Amino acid sequence: MNRNIIELSEVKRTYPVSRGVFSLSKTTVKAVNGITLHVGDGETLGLVGESGCGKSTLARLLTGLEKPDSGSIIFKGKALDQWTAAELGTMVQMVFQDPYSSLNPRHRIGSIISEGMRINNLGNRKEIAARVDELLVQVGLRPEHATRYPHEFSGGQRQRVAIARAIAMNPDLIVCDEPVSALDVSVQAQVLNLLKSIQKEFGLSYVFISHDLSVVSHISDRVAVMYLGMLMEVSPTEDLYRDPLHPYTRILLDAVPVPDPSVRFEEVAISGEMPSPISPPSGCPFHPRCPMVMEICSKERPIMRDMGKGRNVFCHLY
Ligand code: SF4
Repeated sequence: MNRNIIELSEVKRTYPVSRGVFSLSKTTVKAVNGITLHVGDGETLGLVGESGCGKSTLARLLTGLEKPDSGSIIFKGKALDQWTAAELGTMVQMVFQDPYSSLNPRHRIGSIISEGMRINNLGNRKEIAARVDELLVQVGLRPEHATRYPHEFSGGQRQRVAIARAIAMNPDLIVCDEPVSALDVSVQAQVLNLLKSIQKEFGLSYVFISHDLSVVSHISDRVAVMYLGMLMEVSPTEDLYRDPLHPYTRILLDAVPVPDPSVRFEEVAISGEMPSPISPPSGCPFHPRCPMVMEICSKERPIMRDMGKGRNVFCHLY
């Protein structure tokens, strides 16, 4: 992990929304609200938070599917918007949550996996067919599966097909948006192991998005915790799970069943609903729900504190 594959600096993304069904006036949702983050070469960065915290918007920004309102995204040393869509399509891929809707049901598996190679003229018919066979074997399927349709596969097998499609172009970065949440627990482990072995083989970087902290812990080198479009904490995985710094991280971890009885997190119940990203709370966005709240918390947004050893936290406690 010598260099960063992607670097975000103060990235913001808002969306216009109506104030109500009968209202003509518009307001904005601050989906991503000033994120500064990087992903190292060959690294897996886990991105966790409750639904609606902006994880999926951040995923679309990372893949160039959306453009930020402000801030910069540098990919392989160059601004993301300076790469063409075709260039980005070969270097950044996505694996989505739902393997049922992400694969075209009318296309055969071979055609789905080879689409990018055909569009980019990466070989003749025979060479592409041979590459598809190779990819199917790499993800634990068989070459004869190329002629079948998505409905003939289980959820786990479809996610293997989605992974084969993602690695077909030899990308540098794969953004996995809740890639195992729709799968049975036993199949989740198989798909996670497959992602890990593929990363080792190809030296890929991953951004692994999930609401499930136990899933994220299995695959990530570092974890970034998001709340209301902002970062709360970014730490190496082991440190974050052993000694969470931010009160929100602690609460999220309290909700995760821990198989090791020697590991104990302070019992703190999360109170209240997540506030609307249309009008996020002043100061620290977590202050209306934080059990450690202080007077300063509603007034000033905490800046990033560098706690050493790659640990960063956004909280007035530090
Ligand atoms: Fe809680 Fe204040 Fe820290 Fe926010 S800044 S997490 S409200 S202690």
